Amino acid sequence: MKALVFDEKIFIADLPKPARKENESLIKILVAGICNTDLEIIKGYMGYKGVLGHEFVGIVEDSGNHTLINKRVVGEINIGCGKCDFCLQGLSRHCQNRSVIGILAKQGVFAQYITLPDANLCLVPDSIPDEHAVFVEPLAAALEILEQVKIIPATSVAIIGDGKLALLILQVIQLLGVHCVLFGKHEDKLLIAQNLGANTESTTKKYKRVFDLVIEASGKKEGLLKALELLKPRGQLVLKSTFHGKVNLNFAGLVVDEITLIGSRCGPFAPAIRLLEKELIRIDPLIAKVFPFDDAIAAFDYAQSGHLKVLLNYK
Ligand SMILES: [Zn+2]
Ligand SMILES: [Zn+2]
Repeated sequence: MKALVFDEKIFIADLPKPARKENESLIKILVAGICNTDLEIIKGYMGYKGVLGHEFVGIVEDSGNHTLINKRVVGEINIGCGKCDFCLQGLSRHCQNRSVIGILAKQGVFAQYITLPDANLCLVPDSIPDEHAVFVEPLAAALEILEQVKIIPATSVAIIGDGKLALLILQVIQLLGVHCVLFGKHEDKLLIAQNLGANTESTTKKYKRVFDLVIEASGKKEGLLKALELLKPRGQLVLKSTFHGKVNLNFAGLVVDEITLIGSRCGPFAPAIRLLEKELIRIDPLIAKVFPFDDAIAAFDYAQSGHLKVLLNYK
């Protein structure tokens, strides 16, 4: 099978089709999405080498669970050991022996086939097209914020960033009846946010210490510093960006203002699928371009030049 591999550079390789173990399914990928995390990995994030990619929708070709065969599925990207305290509490995302598709010790989805534990798979309702189903994973990541922070309609919320994840977070927060201000640098993306109902700003000047909750999803170090200027004392800061490298931060300011920092990563798939099924999230404006999988390298170049979601079509 063909696969997009990262090992110092990205290249297309011919790899053996993976063999499924007991309790695993063999999945043929239909559509995959390029995530900012993939772009950070090729800069060195996580030190990962191998087949990239974790956002996908596919069809089960072979499985020990016959009810899955020929079904369209998406998959939770963390694979826990199944035995530790975290896994037994349903927190396999935090298993210390986990692997993560295309990020940590597990081949990714920018390949024609992948194997995954049956327990990681979620069926995709027929009404959700492949190009939308591939957003389940990032939408779940946006929903994770609601699992972590109490948000009421009166909460003043700022979102830093105007990329794919920020625009999903915006829509999820707006479903709660909350008014959001989204801060970004790209006119075309800010226009999308406005069309989705947000107030947008290209600078933080007018907004010193006014927000109860700031969600940093810019993917950039500067976003974190900007977020801290916006927060009220005792405010909450949700960190969504995973970037390669370190941030120089004056922690005393956090102590004096009694800021709560909340790291936020992967989220629940089932509500993400429900929101897409009910068409409560607008996906089409977030798709920049669909490339055939054969042109995956060109697709990566395109994604790196700052476009919204770039999809790979394997069909
Ligand atoms: Zn992702
Ligand atoms: Zn475990």
